[in-house]
Amino acid sequence: MDMLSDAILSRRDDLIRLTQDLIRIPTLNPPGQHYRDICEYLEAQLTPKGFECELVRATGTPGDSQKYPRWNLIARRQGERPGECVHFNSHHDVVEVGNGWTRDPFGAEYDAEEDRIYGRGSCDMKGGLAASIIAAEAFVETCPDFAGSIEISATADEETGGYGGVAFLAEQGYYADVQHVIIPEPLHKDRICLGHRGVWWAEIETHGRIAHGSMPFLGDSAIRHMGAVLAEMEETLWPLLAGKRTEMPVIPDGARSSTLNINSIHGGEPDLGPDFTGLPAPCVPDRCRITIDRRFLIEEDLAEVKREITALMERVRARRPTFRYEIRDLFEVIPSMTERDAPVVRTTAAAIERVLGIQAGYVVSPGTYDQKHIDRIGKLHNCIAYGPGVLEMAHQPDEWIGVEDMLDSSRVMGLVLTDLLTVKQ
Ligand SMILES: [Zn+2]
Repeated sequence: MDMLSDAILSRRDDLIRLTQDLIRIPTLNPPGQHYRDICEYLEAQLTPKGFECELVRATGTPGDSQKYPRWNLIARRQGERPGECVHFNSHHDVVEVGNGWTRDPFGAEYDAEEDRIYGRGSCDMKGGLAASIIAAEAFVETCPDFAGSIEISATADEETGGYGGVAFLAEQGYYADVQHVIIPEPLHKDRICLGHRGVWWAEIETHGRIAHGSMPFLGDSAIRHMGAVLAEMEETLWPLLAGKRTEMPVIPDGARSSTLNINSIHGGEPDLGPDFTGLPAPCVPDRCRITIDRRFLIEEDLAEVKREITALMERVRARRPTFRYEIRDLFEVIPSMTERDAPVVRTTAAAIERVLGIQAGYVVSPGTYDQKHIDRIGKLHNCIAYGPGVLEMAHQPDEWIGVEDMLDSSRVMGLVLTDLLTVKQ
């Protein structure tokens, strides 16, 4: 433990440099830029350390093209003896920069006073990726005769569903020989994230009939129909969802209930844009569409979640003779939650206690991340998110990662490797 901790702490400058280099490769998604560059950079870092690297393009997945190929990197370090495989998975893509920055988003500035590195993707999650690499390197150096294997993957498109990343690799069987997965997402260095809630996105459309706006009684307003849907949601659905509480330790507390967001609403004639200087035409809207984002709990069933909406639409229909509607599924994810007594959870909790001297907290993420693909496609239920950084910093302007946090969580990860790859012989 001490030798390993020392080996990690002595790599502080390497850790800062590695994090900075990763931030300076602007892997923006969408559209999916510089994916090959970041994979080649990591290959050049890890190959001299004895990792066998493989670059895998997720050909044909959403967004994959000649211009924006979906590249992934898998690095593998084989031990001296047979044993289990511990796999660290980080996504290498970052979200758009947005407004409000006071630092260069891709400058990766290290502020010595604050001991932080600034930049898009620093917290979510290039800092976590760098921490896992340093942990693996230090472990291999201090314990060269370990059993089993260590894998580090840097994967594409987590921010847009992960189909060109972990989902693709899982479908290709890359998780078939993996026993433990740690995803170093920024969940705080003292917390273990066991999983996430489920998701159902759908588009609901109400139909009407177009007519002249001066004689609306000759048409049928799709917007008024949608208004009735929204009123019914206010009266019956939101109170119902707020009352459903989960045993999952979801953070923040508001997300321990079922939630529903309406992401968008469109009705009537299209928006003609800021350059258009004319007046709108008087028409009764014949279409109105909303996109809903329903997050559900492990206690709920997706079919039941969908039936709730259909039942609501039917209640509205019973009161409105000309009411017609359609519901189209857009996206769905089943909730995922690793058991607290799963080996990777127990080992990480013990390591947090030893490194930080405090009990590990257990949380569940309100939104999904790549665990869904490892769980459903990879059929591996021994997976957690654990990594440095403040979750609230993700996707924000002036995003940063604390160097001390990275070092601490790197020591936790190193200890997990020790427990899983050396204790059992
Ligand atoms: Zn992330």
